[in-house]
Amino acid sequence: MRVLKFGGTSVADADAIRRVVAIVAEERRTSVIEGPVVVVSALGGVTDKLLEVAALARRGDATHALALVDQLYARHLETLAALAPGEHGGPVPEAVDALFAQLRAIAGAVAVLHEASPRSLDAIAAIGELASSRIVTAALQSAGTPATWADPRALIVTDEHFTSATPLLDAIDVQAPAHLRPALAAGRVIVTGGFVGATGKGITTTLGRGGSDYSAALIGAALGADEIQIWTDVDGMLTADPRVVEQPRLVPTLSFAEAAELAYFGAKVLHPKSIQPAAARNIPVRILNTFRPQAAGTLIADGACPDRTAVTALACKRGITVVTITSTGMLMAYGYLRRLFEVFERHQTPVDVVSTSEVSVSVTIDDRAHLDRIVAALSDFAEVSVSNHLALIAVVGEGYGHEPAAFSRVVRALEGLPLRLVSQADSRRNVTLVLDEDALGVAMSRLHAEFFGKPVATPATLMTSAAGR
Ligand code: ASP
Ligand code: MG
Repeated sequence: MRVLKFGGTSVADADAIRRVVAIVAEERRTSVIEGPVVVVSALGGVTDKLLEVAALARRGDATHALALVDQLYARHLETLAALAPGEHGGPVPEAVDALFAQLRAIAGAVAVLHEASPRSLDAIAAIGELASSRIVTAALQSAGTPATWADPRALIVTDEHFTSATPLLDAIDVQAPAHLRPALAAGRVIVTGGFVGATGKGITTTLGRGGSDYSAALIGAALGADEIQIWTDVDGMLTADPRVVEQPRLVPTLSFAEAAELAYFGAKVLHPKSIQPAAARNIPVRILNTFRPQAAGTLIADGACPDRTAVTALACKRGITVVTITSTGMLMAYGYLRRLFEVFERHQTPVDVVSTSEVSVSVTIDDRAHLDRIVAALSDFAEVSVSNHLALIAVVGEGYGHEPAAFSRVVRALEGLPLRLVSQADSRRNVTLVLDEDALGVAMSRLHAEFFGKPVATPATLMTSAAGR
């Protein structure tokens, strides 16, 4: 049994949802097994709009908030009507009506109170996935696929940390199968909304922006799925960010650890936290393109990578700040690093890369909101310097540690570019480099050429470069 998750662009409008219906039908035709379970995002852009409703209402602007609700309602009804024309007044339009009636009531209350608590924000944001999942269910049914809607709040049990709730795995392991198994056994496709959950008391929560992938992985893990497919609007993971490097390649396979490193350092396709439940149970995750379903995509799985090259992909991130802390107090001392990192913890600032010498520690951060207070606190016991406008490059590959020349190839490729920080852990799955932001483009292109070959001049690129001259 597979879990198929479709992102916002994959369900943006009736045409996109028709592709989803076709993909699900193909999945049923080619697999002799149960399912699939379909997890959908809100219709593209709807979550942003819902949060805008909340923001308008909080300012007391009920008129604009409710006008926006009406617009959203119209868009949902129109999409539904295009996909399930016979459904006038049926259970799905009634459910969608009820959701938007609820939204109007909450937005009205927020506007009166001028206050939107995280709990209200979740009640508002959840409407997107609750409505889109109803519509996709109706679209499948109307195309002749036996589909059953499942309320995500009955599946994804979370804590009470509204707007970025933590899923409670033990509870989900019980709830999700209990709710879904009967319908699966009866040969039905299940459709549910991503991103949304509920506390043990049944209060609606959300898993944080982009949380639908997380929902898919949680449900897949709880059901012991054979595979989790993330259907999106790109072909898969690329060897580098196409805005930085010309003609990156598709990465056909990568391990969970590689995916986590890459995602963490800026590859946008998947959030590492979101596939952790799949990684923990070794359930393969495949990234596929709804708009090019025939493309092979990227498979994330352990042990799926037979022909390892030294480097699987590069990732990069701009806007990095390096904080260097120097003190002779560090020499031969214990407890010093704890004291130092405790400062970052107290100011809720994640540290990404760390590099140490005997008397100094350099760390990178990308959230500068509390930087002044961090520097002040560190200055109590050490000398502190800060460098801005830096960029970080992660060179990632399970094969990296197995190729003795890999590091020297990195260094050779970057010859002449001043490196500010270099960090390589003993896992030897990646090396992380920090350099001036201005040098990022050149550095990435050179590294990419070193490990993946030079971009080939196609007629299209020849034409654009000729036009640029
Ligand atoms: N709709 C939510 C968002 O836009 C969740 C998701 O799409 O994954 O953040
Ligand atoms: Mg989205």
